[in-house]
Amino acid sequence: MSDQPRVEIYTKTDCPYCEKAKDLFDSKGIEYETYNVTDDDDLFDEMVDRADGRKTAPEVFIDDELIGGWDDTSALNETGELDEKLGIATDDDDEVVEHRKLIIAGTGIAGLTAAIYAGRSNNEPLVIEGDEPGGQLTLTTDVANYPGFPDGIGGPELVNNMKEQAEQFGADLKNGIIESVDDSSRPFRVEMKDGDVYTADAVIAASGASARTLEIPGEDELMGYGLSTCATCDGAFFRGEDMLVVGGGDAAMEEATFLTKFADTVYIAHRREEFRAEDYWVDRVEEKVDDGEIEIMKNTELIEIHGSQEEGVDHVTLVENDKGHPTDRLEDPETEEFGFDVGAVFFAIGHTPNTDYLEGTGVETDADGYLKTKGGEGGGQTETHVPGIFGAGDVVDYHYQQAVTAAGMGSKAALDADEYLEDLERADSSVEEVEPAAADD
Ligand SMILES: Cc1cc2nc3c(=O)[nH]c(=O)nc-3n(C[C@H](O)[C@H](O)[C@H](O)COP(=O)(O)OP(=O)(O)OC[C@H]3O[C@@H](n4cnc5c(N)ncnc54)[C@H](O)[C@@H]3O)c2cc1C
Repeated sequence: MSDQPRVEIYTKTDCPYCEKAKDLFDSKGIEYETYNVTDDDDLFDEMVDRADGRKTAPEVFIDDELIGGWDDTSALNETGELDEKLGIATDDDDEVVEHRKLIIAGTGIAGLTAAIYAGRSNNEPLVIEGDEPGGQLTLTTDVANYPGFPDGIGGPELVNNMKEQAEQFGADLKNGIIESVDDSSRPFRVEMKDGDVYTADAVIAASGASARTLEIPGEDELMGYGLSTCATCDGAFFRGEDMLVVGGGDAAMEEATFLTKFADTVYIAHRREEFRAEDYWVDRVEEKVDDGEIEIMKNTELIEIHGSQEEGVDHVTLVENDKGHPTDRLEDPETEEFGFDVGAVFFAIGHTPNTDYLEGTGVETDADGYLKTKGGEGGGQTETHVPGIFGAGDVVDYHYQQAVTAAGMGSKAALDADEYLEDLERADSSVEEVEPAAADD
């Protein structure tokens, strides 16, 4: 019989973060019990009670101790404390150094496509999962525009297919987060958050982007208690409530449309007059407006969320000004501040590129932190300013930010890295050929 601690995970149906939590324990070979709270009010109440009032799934417990949701579990994993709680931590604090030809940061669509191509080129990539294994696409249950799937495909399913394909071609996927890359000498030194160190001849940065927040009062306290950045994960918990979606791009339109399944009314607060979203999404939202399921609040911004962890979101404070961007016009007498009752708030306001681990290298970024690559025509389009470090997907491409464009860029990065690695090998072998002759002189 196993002497591992008892791991319990409260889950719900169609919950990407629940899948991530399960995958994490699977990857450690840890057994767990799951309780699906969807459509089971008693189980849901039990979860809320045990999780100190939190109403989001997953909720993870180890030997009855509340670990928390996916963010808490993955944060503990980063520091090694999760392994300690599970009794699988090793005492070996020494750096474990392994050399790889190619390390890929990220298992989103870009990183996994790069891994498929790099595996096929015999570059045996090590692919680091980061704190969001599978990337952003794991947050959507319906990918309708990825070529080859006329009936659509779930994000997690698409990602899992790609992982399987990458592993078939020789890629190794590893749980963990890259802390830093040292480009002061070759090979590159890639240091992980848990202290492990790898060296690599080439690196592909496919580390994507993370959901942005507003940094407003009430946000820290209520995140996970009625405030969320993932409608598909948490929408069902607020069935019958009025819900507020903040944003004006594709993600905001998609999330608002999705939330109409559960909400009494969905309100969209957008700070400008025009939406940034594609016409397709705006049209779908307009249909829901006509049906009375969505109401749009243009030129409106959220400035505070009110509520408590016990009771969830009670109401919000909004500001409105017909000229747009009302928080820039708080002194304007035409700016109106008002309270508004909603039971849940969803942020859909874009992303911040994940590039912290490249700070201190020669890799250049733009003003918003997106990686700069060479671009242009011909080969080498994904090269950064550091030879041997390549960039792909949403961490570079702030404009398109689509699964298929991330995949395309991932393939380009792997092909560029392959050329670089071949040049490196050729240069090394010509040095080896020259050296014995020099010794004969
Ligand atoms: C809710 C939602 C729905 C969407 N729906 C669609 C859709 O229907 N169709 C479509 O085309 N696009 C859709 N998108 C956009 C699409 O998901 C992204 O464009 C795509 O996932 C970008 O892929 P990526 O690999 O560049 O980055 P990401 O998916 O962001 O993946 C980044 C990866 O890097 C890892 N990482 C980050 N930092 C580190 C680090 N320090 N060390 C190691 N790894 C790290 C992360 O853990 C993650 O695995 C949607 C996005 C969202 C949020």
